[in-house]
Parts: sequence; structure tokens; C-alpha cells
Amino acid sequence: MAKIILTGDRPTGRLHVGHYVGSLRRRVELQNSGDYDEIYIMIADAQALTDNADNPEKVRQNIIEVALDYLSCGLDPSKSTLFIQSQVPQLTELTFYYMNLVTVARLQRNPTVKSEIQLRDFHNSIPVGFFTYPISQAADITAFDATTVPVGEDQEPMLEQAKEIVRRFNYVYGDTLVEPQILLPENKYCMRLPGTDGKAKMSKSLNNCIYLSDSSEEVRKKIMGMFTDPNHLRVDDPGQVEGNPVFIYLEAFATDEHFQKFLPEYENLQALKDHYTRGGLGDVKVKKFLYAVMEDVLTPIRERRKEYEKDIPAILEILKQGSIKAEAKAAATLNRVKQSMRINYFDDQDYLDEQAKKFTE
Ligand code: ATP
Ligand code: MG
Repeated sequence: MAKIILTGDRPTGRLHVGHYVGSLRRRVELQNSGDYDEIYIMIADAQALTDNADNPEKVRQNIIEVALDYLSCGLDPSKSTLFIQSQVPQLTELTFYYMNLVTVARLQRNPTVKSEIQLRDFHNSIPVGFFTYPISQAADITAFDATTVPVGEDQEPMLEQAKEIVRRFNYVYGDTLVEPQILLPENKYCMRLPGTDGKAKMSKSLNNCIYLSDSSEEVRKKIMGMFTDPNHLRVDDPGQVEGNPVFIYLEAFATDEHFQKFLPEYENLQALKDHYTRGGLGDVKVKKFLYAVMEDVLTPIRERRKEYEKDIPAILEILKQGSIKAEAKAAATLNRVKQSMRINYFDDQDYLDEQAKKFTE
């Protein structure tokens, strides 16, 4: 069976370093591994509209930002198909049929949707489209026959939902859809990178992000203002590294080479953590090191972005061609689906003959 990747991001803002460690960095590695037959990377504008219906301009403006972030991280349009969700109408059609295979109670149990509803203060005015977005994600994944979905931990319930839909569809209508597997980051600190404010998740909606396209000065300010251990008041005080976002970022980004390069008095992160826990190591020193590490990661991304920004029409053309290619793939799946559901009336000669006969006998 072909190995196929599908993943994507909502164009609700520029991408941040949580996206980078949670999914983007891995995608580029998988792309360059040569192990995959097809790779689809989707800018999920239709999904972004499910909770931004009154602000289509935000979604519209952020498509190019996300595309620039993709390219500057190393996604390569000659290896990966970059496309825009709304330009592939088959995805909406699949969603509509899958809706019949899922109950309201099942959707209500989805923990990520639950917490997002709270976060957005929807209370009793949850848009139906938002409530059902896990179903549309199942359509996105299955439309491309994806076997592998590299995402952050918050997407686990979506993958579970997608698998259930696949099983149910195949059970009711016969083997048609491919069951996907989630691919979580190997490093547990990357599964859900916290915000600079210490909140559980760095998220565009929470305004606690370091963006891939932030300037060096913006990154410095954000890091120096970061939340740390609130009980670590004096340098001599013993500090706590668990739950301390500065150390979590180091877990996600710092390599032993970074220590050799920027902080050679420590062999590795363990040595730095031991010193902090013992006391005698100030937050400022750790933050300065984190800044050096982040700059080491972000500088090449920022520089590539500057290059791509010089030719925006070329990037829009990449998205257009990618969307055409994605549509062809999704159309083939939709045909298969309609055939299995036996709603492909005009392609089904048996059906046409049978109906004609029904009234002549
Ligand atoms: P929004 O607030 O609009 O939902 P978001 O920041 O949650 O935005 P998404 O576009 O919903 O970003 O997520 C895109 C991908 O990035 C998903 O695979 C998700 O798991 C991953 N991701 C998002 N935030 C983080 C994070 N803080 N840590 C690790 N992965 C993340
Ligand atoms: Mg999200």
C-alpha cells in the first residue's frame, strides 16, 4: 500500500514555534526521507472559518503567511503538494456523507473540541460547522488515502474520530477508505509546547506565541519576559525545572552542539537542569542561552522567508497548482465513495437498466 501523508494548519495567523516542534519540523524530515509516495499539506481555510465566520478577511490574509512559513521551514513543492482546503470541494461533499455515520453524543465527547469551545466562550452558541469539524478532518484525511498524519497531541481525538468513521464506512458500504495512523513527535516536550505565559499550549488564539517570522528583537523580548518558576526569586534559591516553560523550550530545541557553541561550561541540558535545581543559577542566564538556541534555529528560517517574500505571485501559483493536483486525488476518492454508497447513478448501467425495466414489466 502506498505511504501517504496528509496534514495541515488553520490560516488563523502566522505559524509559531509550537507548530514547528509539534508538526512542521517532522514533516520536513519525512518529506526528505524519501519514504513517502505522496505528501499533501493543507492550508485549512474552510476549517478556520468554522470559528471565524464573521472574519473571513483574517483567514484570507493568513493563507500567504502560512504558505511562507511552510516554504521557509523547508517544505518543497516539488516533493509535497501544498494546497488550500476550500479549493477542493470534494472535501465538503465527503463531510456531508460522513456526518450520517457519527452521533451528536460522540462529537460532544471529543476533549479537544470541548476545551476549544470553552476557550472561545461559545457557551450555547456553538456554530454547527465548528462542532462538526472533526468530521471534516476525517474527510480531509481519507480523501487523500492518508496512511500517516504527523500532528501535535491535541489532534489525537481527531484521529480517533477519523478511524471510527473509516471503520463504520467500510463496515456499512464495504472496504473503501484507508485507516490513518497518527504520528506524534518523538520528544514528549514537543507534543504540546506551552505558551510563553506558561499556559498549557502555545496557540494563536491565546496570544502567547513566538512566531517563526518574529524578528530577532521580538524573540529576545518574548524570551526575556517569559514565565519561569515563580518561587525562584534569588539566584541562590533552588529552582524547579518541571513545568518551567524556559526549560521545556530547551528540551524541545537545545542540542548538545548548542551547549558547545553557546554555553560550553555545561556539558548538556541535564547539567544545566541540575545546577538550576540546586540553586545558584539565575533565570537571565538560562533565558539568554535559550535566546541563542532559538536564534540558531530561527535565523535560517527567517532568511529563507525574506527570499520567498520577494516573489509572492510564484507562491500563489504553487498553491494553485497544488490545489488542482489535490482536487484530482480527492475526486478519485469521492468517486470510490459514491460507488460504494451506490449513489453513482449515472455511471451505473445496472441501475439505469433496472430502473427502466421496473415500469415496463
Ligand atoms: P488555533 O488557535 O487557530 O487553533 P493553533 O495554534 O492551535 O491555532 P492549529 O492550526 O490548530 O494551530 O494546529 C496546527 C498543527 O500544529 C496541529 O498539528 C497541532 O497539533 C500543532 N500544534 C499547534 N499548537 C501546538 C503546540 N503548542 N505544540 C505542539 N503542536 C502544536
Ligand atoms: Mg488549534
